[in-house]
Amino acid sequence: MNKLGKLIHTLEKDELENLKRDLLIGNMEKLINKRLLMLSTGEMKICPVCGNDINILKDEYYKLEFGDQSLRRQAYFDALDCMQFFIDKSRGQEVNQ
Ligand SMILES: [Zn+2]
Repeated sequence: MNKLGKLIHTLEKDELENLKRDLLIGNMEKLINKRLLMLSTGEMKICPVCGNDINILKDEYYKLEFGDQSLRRQAYFDALDCMQFFIDKSRGQEVNQ
């Protein structure tokens, strides 16, 4: 089941009725369009460790650049703990190769 399906199964009756109303009057479409715009402009990033949203224009964040020049990659983290976990995990993968 996808994320939205799982979320819907956790909602109470009044929350489902509000969601259905928002869907019918077009609020959900506006919300989705706003989110798509934020993602397409690069304003929003997702922490690869915990999955939290990071708005790089508003939120505090940590950025890691890695890889050789032909395949340079970037990762954004919402917390130092997440970046540390990512580095530790990457270091473990290098040792195992
Ligand atoms: Zn995180």
